[in-house]
Amino acid sequence: MLHDVAIVGAGPVGATLALALADGDLDVVVLDARARGETLRGERSLALSHGARLILERCGVWPVLAAATDAVTPIVEIDISQAGAFGITRLCAAESGLPALGYVVGYRALQAALDDALARAGVEVRHGAVATSVGGTPAYAAVAIEGADVVTARLAAVADGTGAAVAGIGRQRHDYGQTALVAKLWRSAPHAGLAYERFTRQGPVALLPEGDHYGLVWTTTPRHAETLLALDDAAFLAALQEHFGTRAGGFTRVVDRRSFPLALEFARTTAATRCVVLGNAAQTLHPVAGQGFNVGLRDAAGLAQAVLDTSREAIGERAMLDRYVRSRRSDRWAGIAFTHGLVSVFGNDVPLLRWPRGLALTLLDTLPVAKRAFVRTMLFGLR
Ligand SMILES: Cc1cc2nc3c(=O)[nH]c(=O)nc-3n(C[C@H](O)[C@H](O)[C@H](O)COP(=O)(O)OP(=O)(O)OC[C@H]3O[C@@H](n4cnc5c(N)ncnc54)[C@H](O)[C@@H]3O)c2cc1C
Repeated sequence: MLHDVAIVGAGPVGATLALALADGDLDVVVLDARARGETLRGERSLALSHGARLILERCGVWPVLAAATDAVTPIVEIDISQAGAFGITRLCAAESGLPALGYVVGYRALQAALDDALARAGVEVRHGAVATSVGGTPAYAAVAIEGADVVTARLAAVADGTGAAVAGIGRQRHDYGQTALVAKLWRSAPHAGLAYERFTRQGPVALLPEGDHYGLVWTTTPRHAETLLALDDAAFLAALQEHFGTRAGGFTRVVDRRSFPLALEFARTTAATRCVVLGNAAQTLHPVAGQGFNVGLRDAAGLAQAVLDTSREAIGERAMLDRYVRSRRSDRWAGIAFTHGLVSVFGNDVPLLRWPRGLALTLLDTLPVAKRAFVRTMLFGLR
């Protein structure tokens, strides 16, 4: 049986694509290695842009998420600074004329809301379906499934987080030699929607307001992360306080410490015969600017649009794939370059860079045009 679209991976990006296609009178099948009700990843705080909210609103997921207790926390202000040098800037939602600069959403709450929405929309999701290879002929895409029949479709859209199973797509990797240590963190005062991004000698530290606490993302060397993970809670809080300083007040409690290696990995091209990769499978970014998932959601929205604008017979043909790749090219490369540039300028300890860094932050604070451009980038991406 030839499906119109086979989506490999029902993570946040693949699920959003499936929901965006749900009203399109198309035969869509979604394949995911997860068992039903299981979440792939450990909890992490995702910073969603205003543009990402609009995409989730169109899929009917946002109202459900927003109604759940503590699932969505608006960021109304971001305090950006660097440790041991001058330069501070504050970005305010009020200055942008929006209710919030962005939103913090827990990965698990988002995945649960998307899974529910897929079930409500009647989308065919095959759980426990592990794709072992994805390839294409000029006529159709073929997805090989562990212990089951091959699934064929006019188009295979691969959002499996790695893109490793896809034939014909070369990948490039840059290891930052850094680890992100994440945890839930409490401080003496309520967060009031204020996020912090602090650039330190070891790399950036972000505090994202989430529910009644902060989601901590502490970028550091793998060896230091190991040492920090081994500390008891009190010693960890003392180490963080010393590293971060007193800008955010006193830290009082920490739970759920975990770590992830950080790398930039991207597909050189996002399309091969009858296949596309999107989301993390197309680009896995450093979390410094909170852009990864936001770019992935825009991939999903863009691909859905390209499919819906194409006649059924032409779905997955070269012309459609070329149109999709062209429509995403500038936003995708800009997201990669913006994040990588931010890590290169702010994520290291080159003393000579400290002064220009401070200048950049100060200029951002004093130049309304630059500030607006920066806020726009964080909210809607680069085009
Ligand atoms: C520490 C950290 C913090 C982050 N913070 C942010 C942030 O603040 N803002 C932001 O925008 N992004 C952030 N990101 C990135 C964000 O987590 C990813 O962009 C997002 O998870 C990508 O979603 P995805 O659907 O592409 O892939 P995934 O979340 O990896 O989902 C992939 C899905 O595919 C399925 N799958 C995998 N392999 C197979 C297979 N072989 N066959 C079938 N199914 C398969 C999985 O079960 C899963 O459901 C962060 C990342 C890290 C590491």
